Amino acid sequence: MGVSQVAVITGAGSGIGRATAHELAQRGHRIVVADINAGAAEVVANEIIQLGGHAVAIGADVCVDADAMVAKAIEAFGVIDILVNNAGIFYPADFLTTPFAEWQKAVDVMYFGAVHCSQAAARAMVAQGHGGQIVNVSSVNAFLGAPLSSHYNTAKGAIDQLTRCLAVELAPHGILVNGVAPGFVETPMAIVDGVSEHSTAEFQQFYVQRRRIPLARPAEPSEIAVVIAFLAEGSATYLTGHTIVVDGGLSVTF
Ligand code: NAP
Repeated sequence: MGVSQVAVITGAGSGIGRATAHELAQRGHRIVVADINAGAAEVVANEIIQLGGHAVAIGADVCVDADAMVAKAIEAFGVIDILVNNAGIFYPADFLTTPFAEWQKAVDVMYFGAVHCSQAAARAMVAQGHGGQIVNVSSVNAFLGAPLSSHYNTAKGAIDQLTRCLAVELAPHGILVNGVAPGFVETPMAIVDGVSEHSTAEFQQFYVQRRRIPLARPAEPSEIAVVIAFLAEGSATYLTGHTIVVDGGLSVTF
């Protein structure tokens, strides 16, 4: 096992963030489980502690509590080495009829949330003077079009550009910045009106039976978490500014 690092993971009360918290904890790292839902963050931190890991929870909105998350890491573990910008929301939004404020919510949470958190974490990392890693959770939606998703896809596209720009600007400080772009993942985000979009006949026929996803299934959150953890640990010391697509082959065929 490598050196134990301290990771702040946003939106870690559920789905991919939760799986990433477990993956990094299993690798010996200490975790600040942050989520807008404080109760969910507590549950995940307790799961990690029960398994013998080290974790603290914080109820935190990425739009307002960036400094509080970094302060929590330093208060609990003395340092921050890793930030995973994972928090996200999705709701269908028809471009012609959705009011602007409603449309903008997705950009506020996923793009500006990542900006706030990256700035707070990078400032602390620079002050510490020993580098660090930032991992942004993007999506294949960042580089593909889709109906009812202009808010979400735009936010994700901006995240990929943030990854590139921060990689350049923070490189002199030894901070690596990379991203992970999942395809379909079996998490609560995939549930619309109580039904997983992956269980519909349309999804099964198009993406699974016709192998529009070459691996013919959505990912489990843990399959995304291992790639995030790989980047978060910083063991790939010459890798920065790139976003790794983890989509079962979805975006390499048509
Ligand atoms: P999820 O299970 O819904 O988890 C997202 C977590 O983020 C939830 O706990 C959510 O809390 C929290 N959150 C929402 N707004 C927040 C805020 N302002 N501040 C802090 N936390 C907030 O979804 P997921 O699928 O794991 O998504 C994780 C990331 O993966 C997202 O960035 C998403 O866009 C990306 N992604 C997901 C998929 C997929 O198919 N699932 C595919 C590609 C990319 P609430 O539940 O209370 O809102």
